[in-house]
Amino acid sequence: MPVPDNGSPKGGKLVILSAPSGGGKTTIAGELLRLDPTLHRSISVTTRKQRPGEIDGRDYFFISKQEFDRRLADGQLLEHTQIHGNHYGTPADYILQQLESGQKVLLVIESLGMRQIKKRPELTNYLTAIFLLPVTMQELWDRLAARPRTDALENQRRIQNAYGEIAFYNEYDYIIVNRTIAESTALAYKIATDDALGLQACRPNDLMVRTHVADLLDQVVV
Ligand code: 5GP
Repeated sequence: MPVPDNGSPKGGKLVILSAPSGGGKTTIAGELLRLDPTLHRSISVTTRKQRPGEIDGRDYFFISKQEFDRRLADGQLLEHTQIHGNHYGTPADYILQQLESGQKVLLVIESLGMRQIKKRPELTNYLTAIFLLPVTMQELWDRLAARPRTDALENQRRIQNAYGEIAFYNEYDYIIVNRTIAESTALAYKIATDDALGLQACRPNDLMVRTHVADLLDQVVV
């Protein structure tokens, strides 16, 4: 499998977008893709059941556990994870081909996957990882509770996971507090398009960001 030359990214870029469940990543990813037609979304493979409204090949490639294991053993997945008993993985070929030809790719994955990608030296030069933080944990809870076919126990589990995911914040390059869709999309767009961007206020070591994370981790949802 061809691997991009670490020293010559040729303009290719790998943008990772993560957020806790209910944190708005699907919305922001959709807006970002609409705003930037040069950004291509990677479509993951998953063993989870297809939900109503989802389309195979658009939302995910829905595959069996046996097929997932085969691809994993063949080295076809760039990273993989298991969430709530379902397996998810990022197909390697698509991303490597896009990066090799100087394209920008968006990956909407969770923190453990981001960590695996970060450990791949051949991808370091291409990578920009963005984490969306909620304004409050209660807001996250309310958004989960407002979803159709909501399940209180499942939402409890998602909120618990959210605390764990937020604790990974300083492994990301940029942090966006998701106050409004418009503001978060505009920031994500800047980050995805401008290589020389400083944007210190969105860096994980920024005092406001660190204070916000500490506040979130202290909040108890009721
Ligand atoms: P859902 O089942 O609700 O579509 O996704 C559950 C979680 O899996 C989300 O946080 C989503 O971002 C994450 N996810 C989707 N595809 C992948 C993938 O290929 N790799 C990893 N690590 N996470 C993924």
